[in-house]
Amino acid sequence: MTVAPPKVLTIAGSDSGGGAGLQADLRALFACGVHGMTAVTAVTVQNSLGVTGFTEIPPDVVAAQIVAVASDIGVDAAKTGMLASAAIIEAVAAACDEVHIGRTIPFVVDPVAASMHGQQLLADDALDALRTELFPRATLVTPNLDEVRLITGIEVADRRDQYRAAEALHAMGPAWALVKGGHLWSDPECVDLLYDGDRFHEFPGPRYDVKHTHGSGDTLASAICSRLARGEDVPTAVAYGKSFIVRSVAAAYPLGAGVGPVSPLWRLPAE
Ligand code: PLP
Repeated sequence: MTVAPPKVLTIAGSDSGGGAGLQADLRALFACGVHGMTAVTAVTVQNSLGVTGFTEIPPDVVAAQIVAVASDIGVDAAKTGMLASAAIIEAVAAACDEVHIGRTIPFVVDPVAASMHGQQLLADDALDALRTELFPRATLVTPNLDEVRLITGIEVADRRDQYRAAEALHAMGPAWALVKGGHLWSDPECVDLLYDGDRFHEFPGPRYDVKHTHGSGDTLASAICSRLARGEDVPTAVAYGKSFIVRSVAAAYPLGAGVGPVSPLWRLPAE
């Protein structure tokens, strides 16, 4: 009998186009060799041109999904994506406490606020809940620079600002903060900065001039989570995630008339 691989739970929204959200998470988790599970928070109506609407899942149903999988299957690491509302964030925090996610179980909080086309995926009044309910429970937070601005008020224009932002995020309570440099367009490289309140780690990577980057944040956080689920420390898991996302961006493909997804298919044997 085959032994089960490590198990990772994603608490995230559905992207009907299959490019981002829980679909991207499950794809990346599979490619990284772990078993993916989902607590669905919202169902978006979405294609390569953007999000035209979404409906939220009732907070008690989101919480029940978390408790159901954790109490039977077990969770070796968990991550969040789109959480939509303060009520869902509060329900997620309570359910995570109940099953020790964020205490003994690594917990990656990807503070998704908007789609790459600018459609809002998190209510304005939910930012406070994100900061106070989820950040203190997180092993790692992984904002992009737009999310950094919303959460900390810091407008990152250069590497020095990136360091300041990492300190401000860490002061909100997560064990580690990763400030992703992908949106720092003035930088010829793409440097992600990791901080634990003591040491900074820079993870440089190439900046590809590509159009198809849908789901890149989800794919990175999922790849990191897959390694935390195996018991790796955060810097080692982030290094793996960085190399995984660089190759997945290089393997992105076009879909529809808009923006296609990054792809972890490079990780699987060719047909
Ligand atoms: N839709 C859903 C359901 C998501 O979870 C996310 C991001 O996590 C997005 C859309 C946005 O992805 P992108 O920034 O690649 O457009």
